[in-house]
Amino acid sequence: MSLYTPSVIAQNVAQVQAQIAEACARVNRPAESVILVAVSKKQPHQAVLAAVEGGVRHFGENRVEEAEDKIPRVTAVLPPYTDEALTWHMIGHVQSRKVRAVVAHFDLVHSVDSLPLASKLSRMAEKGGRVLPLHLQINVSGEASKSGFAAQAWTEDPAQRAELLMAVRHVAALPGVTLRGLMTMAPFVDDAAVLRQTFASLRGLRDLLAESLGTPLPDLSMGMTNDYPIAIEEGATHVRIGRAIFGERL
Ligand SMILES: *Cc1c(COP(=O)(O)O)cnc(C)c1O
Repeated sequence: MSLYTPSVIAQNVAQVQAQIAEACARVNRPAESVILVAVSKKQPHQAVLAAVEGGVRHFGENRVEEAEDKIPRVTAVLPPYTDEALTWHMIGHVQSRKVRAVVAHFDLVHSVDSLPLASKLSRMAEKGGRVLPLHLQINVSGEASKSGFAAQAWTEDPAQRAELLMAVRHVAALPGVTLRGLMTMAPFVDDAAVLRQTFASLRGLRDLLAESLGTPLPDLSMGMTNDYPIAIEEGATHVRIGRAIFGERL
């Protein structure tokens, strides 16, 4: 169960939204240019409903089994009081055998970390008669614990750049998906300079790939509870925030 009552969750949402607006103002971006994705993993469906009451319309989950249970519970009680449909974001590693469920329950996948996964998502989306938007997850920091396409050396290593461009071309050509942009997780450090460099690097990579591809890649999914103001200053379009809204996960 969440540690927080519904009114505390709604207050937290307001606080996070105010911080998003402040970060946007610092770099002359409109506050609407950032989508708040409330990360409700390990939180019960009541916590999601409290965030909906607080104005959140985008939710992120990282485990398919949990989402398969939670999303229908939320949806079942929503129609009486929401003015807008919810958008569900898959932000965790997707196993091959879960692709069908991901396509059935989610609107956007942030965490596409291999070409076979992208191909399977495309095939399954096509079968369902839809086009699934996705982000490629990029491992900018090079930490072995993080999944994603390797990009820790993209500025100095032409081979790594070529590989990333090949991956992006491949995904952009798949019929069942739309490549919207890139996602990353920053290292768990307090050093603001390191965080900023990670986010700026993802933006630089996005710019390079979009130019080589000849199509815009508008989305940059970056920034979590500890670092989202910096991520916004560096161009984030989607911030994925759990603890600042729902409290520590039990
Ligand atoms: C859990 C998680 C988040 C949210 O992290 P907080 O520190 O709770 O804001 C964001 N992105 C991903 C991929 C996550 O797994």
